[in-house]
Amino acid sequence: MCNTDVFTFLESGKAMSCKVVVAIDGPAGSGKSTIARLLAQKLGLLYIDTGAMYRAATLKALRAGVDPTDGRALAEMLEHTRIELGETNGKQWVRLDGDDVTLTIRSPEVGSLVSVVSGHPEVRSQMTQEQRRLAQSGGVVLDGRDIGTHVLPGADVKFYFTADLEVRVDRRLKENHEKGFQTDRESVKREMIERDRLDSARKCAPLRVADDAIVIDTSHLTISEVLSLVEGYVRRRTG
Ligand code: C5P
Repeated sequence: MCNTDVFTFLESGKAMSCKVVVAIDGPAGSGKSTIARLLAQKLGLLYIDTGAMYRAATLKALRAGVDPTDGRALAEMLEHTRIELGETNGKQWVRLDGDDVTLTIRSPEVGSLVSVVSGHPEVRSQMTQEQRRLAQSGGVVLDGRDIGTHVLPGADVKFYFTADLEVRVDRRLKENHEKGFQTDRESVKREMIERDRLDSARKCAPLRVADDAIVIDTSHLTISEVLSLVEGYVRRRTG
């Protein structure tokens, strides 16, 4: 049973410049969220970070002592959970039951459990339903693992980002450092390999390339190079 009030997206009064729906999927550290956020800013779209939803659910399970391997218990927990995504002055934020968890959901503790929580069909069905609701009016960019293949198979433009493992580990280490999380290269690499494995191997909506996705290897491209590539595709596809 899904409670459609579990999540709320506060749009901060953003004016949508067009109704396009853009999906960006790919493994951890491939650059999805950076590009999705910048693309949204540039084209006046709403950015929906679906990974943040799964991370917030994972944090809630940690806080509430709910077993992350018990899909039914997690689904029950989500019935009484409020996850809000929003943006203020161009900065994304996430609230869990009213508490600002923008930074906490990026912690290594959440990172090491999120793929266990997200592997449960009971959890995914609630998230998917909410993501579809958020995207239904268009003018959105969603990034995640199953957006182009499962959540929004009819998206106007689909991208699949990849990058070399070492490059992705470097990016995650830098991000962790900037956020004040002390992590070492080996543990970041181990966690990333395991998360990719779980995300790709799960039965329900695994990470994979949609047949009609544009695949971009971001390993040796700068952020502005990826952004202009992606923007070019979106503009061409949508006229
Ligand atoms: O994108 P991010 O690394 O924050 O995602 C965290 C985790 O959330 C992923 O590793 C995956 O387990 C889960 N996720 C998912 N489906 C999505 C988005 C994220 O399963 N659409």
